[in-house]
Amino acid sequence: MANIPSSLTSFYKEPGPKLDKESPFESMMERFRFAAEILQLDEGLFQYLASPVKQVIVSIPVVMDDGKIKVFEGFRVIHDNVLGPSKGGIRFAPDVNLDEVKALAAWMTWKCAVVNVPFGGAKGGIRCNPKELSKHELERLTRRYTANLLEVFGPDRDIPAPDMNTDEQVMAWIMDTYSMNSLKTETAVVTGKPIILGGSQGRKEATGRGVVTVTLAALSKMGLMPNKTTVVVQGFGNVGSVSAELMYEQGAKIIAISDISGGYYNAEGIDIPEAISYMNANNRSLEGYENAQPISNEELLELTCDVLIPAAKEDQIGRHNAHKIDAKIVAEGANGPVTANADSILEENGVMVIPDILANAGGVTVSYFEWVQDRQGYFWTEERVNRRLNRMMRSAFDNLYAVCEKHNITMRQAAYVYAIDRVAETLKLRGIYA
Ligand code: NAD
Repeated sequence: MANIPSSLTSFYKEPGPKLDKESPFESMMERFRFAAEILQLDEGLFQYLASPVKQVIVSIPVVMDDGKIKVFEGFRVIHDNVLGPSKGGIRFAPDVNLDEVKALAAWMTWKCAVVNVPFGGAKGGIRCNPKELSKHELERLTRRYTANLLEVFGPDRDIPAPDMNTDEQVMAWIMDTYSMNSLKTETAVVTGKPIILGGSQGRKEATGRGVVTVTLAALSKMGLMPNKTTVVVQGFGNVGSVSAELMYEQGAKIIAISDISGGYYNAEGIDIPEAISYMNANNRSLEGYENAQPISNEELLELTCDVLIPAAKEDQIGRHNAHKIDAKIVAEGANGPVTANADSILEENGVMVIPDILANAGGVTVSYFEWVQDRQGYFWTEERVNRRLNRMMRSAFDNLYAVCEKHNITMRQAAYVYAIDRVAETLKLRGIYA
């Protein structure tokens, strides 16, 4: 990493996330440094973009169902608000901490910039075990967290969304608490709301739909026809099942799918609508799915195919198995499924990786549409949402592809170069307020 002063590189090493070498957060920071070098980013700008603009820690007292008071810790980090109000999810988990939230907030900045959504990046969390809380306790926890952050949140300031263990109901409570304190209904303060409360059509499918849009764009660059391709999908939840279904609709042969119960392989192709019906009837699990042969999740990743879509969790393709990946395209439906160590191995083997900050940005893109619709008070049809999503994802892909060709770098490197350049250029025009 020439050209980057060691004082700045160490900035990441010290206050940054204390995670193992192959953690997605460390991987992201490595990629950030690489892009900064290509851009010859000014030292001051580098420092600016490496530092979150605001970090808030709140104590959240909650009266539990047994009448006792329990105090939880909550976080909200705004990494950046140069492009517009900050945007990012809120997670409820026992191990949430400030470092993790800081890294995830930065990730959101780059993701929004890649798809040209006028938002900065943020993330929040409450350290709690949602499984141990009753619905009423969860509601009181959410409302008090929101009340403590009234000065941070706002449709023009910072807009939360669902993340790990938070859902439409949690968003509805945040919206209501914020609205009660604003003395008016403010639907645009959160996204990922139920449709009846100002949510958007197409939001649930948006991430998988975006994965498919960029995958089709990549196939076309390679001169491959979707109906002549084989696809493997890891994870069969929101992102994985929608990606599989839409690729299936394009005529692709989905030869393997998987979930936490294991992998399922059929060389003749899996009937995806039938597999989805099976999963829905089987408590959202593929366990016992019979129209395919069981394989392990490790074997699944190593199958020969045209497109591999890891859509389950982080760190699935690392140094240990990257050389065994036999796909032409890896489209990262999940966040961080390929580690930084695996990037170079895949590159050497000619595998095109469509990076998470592009591939799964369909979700934040339709969140942006939700915010726009709430502010207009005018709601779009699903067809309009999908058409606009498709257009934005396709143009983001083309923008990154052009950067890729210009600098002769990978799509991942191009995504960071593009995003950092966009934020840095905007920052230069705005200048530093003094
Ligand atoms: P989900 O909970 O709906 O589905 C996750 C799926 O992965 C399930 O089928 C689960 O069984 C499976 N899974 C879990 N562990 C596994 C393992 N070890 N091996 C194989 N399969 C396993 O979650 P989701 O919303 O589809 O999110 C999946 C990934 O996509 C996550 O990394 C998430 O952060 C990312 N993502 C989601 C969205 C979104 O809008 N939902 C947006 C951006 C990124």
